[in-house]
Amino acid sequence: MHELSIAQSIMERVEALRAEHDAAGIASVQLQVGTLSGVDPYALEMAFSVAVEGTLYAATRWDIQSIPARVDCRSCGKTTTPDGPFPICMNCDSTDIKIVAGRELMIDTIEVGQNEETDHV
Ligand SMILES: [Zn+2]
Repeated sequence: MHELSIAQSIMERVEALRAEHDAAGIASVQLQVGTLSGVDPYALEMAFSVAVEGTLYAATRWDIQSIPARVDCRSCGKTTTPDGPFPICMNCDSTDIKIVAGRELMIDTIEVGQNEETDHV
């Protein structure tokens, strides 16, 4: 599953940041996922629920924010928002476009906090 390896690599980056700040746990992580990134936010959410099992992140909330795509068209000059996973101009259907937004796959904010599950161990 494509999204599972993405979830795991995001967790590795979060873990590196947690260790760097010497935090006991992570309460929540906000992620930005562009509609042209090739990642399905729902599948990614499912992947996290599998990937965190038995880890320090079992109680972490993963907020996945979908970023709408924006493309600048070189044919008609308009900026439009493709409604599907393909970067095309919604005005003239041209594929001669420049992607302005929508390819994001990044960690936006991390909220440090006590991991509730380890609290009671
Ligand atoms: Zn166009």
